Amino acid sequence: MSETDSSATSPVWRRASVALLRWFDTGQDVVVDATQADRVDWLRVIPFIGLHLACLAVFVVGVSWFAIAVAIALYALRMFAITGFYHRYFSHKAFRTSRPVQFAFAVLGAASVQRGPLWWAAHHRHHHRHADTEHDIHSPRHGFWRSHMTWFLTPRGFGTNHDAIKDLTRFPELRLLDRFDILVPALLAVGLYWLGDTLQSQAPALGTNGPQLLVWGFFVSTIVLFHITVTINSLAHRWGSRRFATRDDSRNNWLLALLTFGEGWHNNHHHFPGSARQGFTWWEIDLTYYALRFLSWFGLVWDLKSVPPALRKPTAAALRAS
Ligand SMILES: [Zn+2]
Ligand SMILES: [Zn+2]
Repeated sequence: MSETDSSATSPVWRRASVALLRWFDTGQDVVVDATQADRVDWLRVIPFIGLHLACLAVFVVGVSWFAIAVAIALYALRMFAITGFYHRYFSHKAFRTSRPVQFAFAVLGAASVQRGPLWWAAHHRHHHRHADTEHDIHSPRHGFWRSHMTWFLTPRGFGTNHDAIKDLTRFPELRLLDRFDILVPALLAVGLYWLGDTLQSQAPALGTNGPQLLVWGFFVSTIVLFHITVTINSLAHRWGSRRFATRDDSRNNWLLALLTFGEGWHNNHHHFPGSARQGFTWWEIDLTYYALRFLSWFGLVWDLKSVPPALRKPTAAALRAS
């Protein structure tokens, strides 16, 4: 990401065409006006707003059990790809896996419309280095909405610091996926429409069709997945208890842990980020860890790192957030 002042004087048509290009190719050089780096770039936000508005189409396409089941299945699969791989693997290297499995889950993660694995990991590593300081781009100390979503809608949030992810950029397939990150969700949307359309004629008893499966399976599932995922940046640094006196505001929150498949044990995670397991006790349910254990039985992942017993001891009495 380079920084100049030239974009401040660019005509709207030019900024719009650059924004359009970046929707499809995030490798386009980002020219950032230093004074605008933390302001929401509304031209780039249009697809994000569109994803939300598209959910309103549920009132047009109706609903079926099949469409709900597909929406839930895609939520679960993509949530696991984000928590297990974008987070615990790409960002923290909490276990090892093969190159094909790494790529397969990178593709599934990209289907979540949360950008590519390189962008995600670079920003997340930055979060851990600067958690809740002035340099943390999505600390709730900058405000709820900034931490929840407007941070990545800014020119600063758009860029990827490749120096932070040198261990990942050596894989050309990951660089390609990251650059054209919109391709996977676009294919998922088209595939869902095709599936619904096919089922309408081949299995009419399911009561679904192309537009219905597109709206529930893609738009609704993706938007719910997105807002639940980012509660870890916004709410899990505000609401919950603190077992460890970490230097940040991270909290353990059982409800967020259930919804995000284990990520809600966020104070645990900031205490020892390298662990594949974020629930440190038997009652701290961590679905992502259970799924990783399951994959390890088949040799798909291995060397799951755990917390050294000495580091599990609470360093501070649990504080209840107000
Ligand atoms: Zn955090
Ligand atoms: Zn982390």
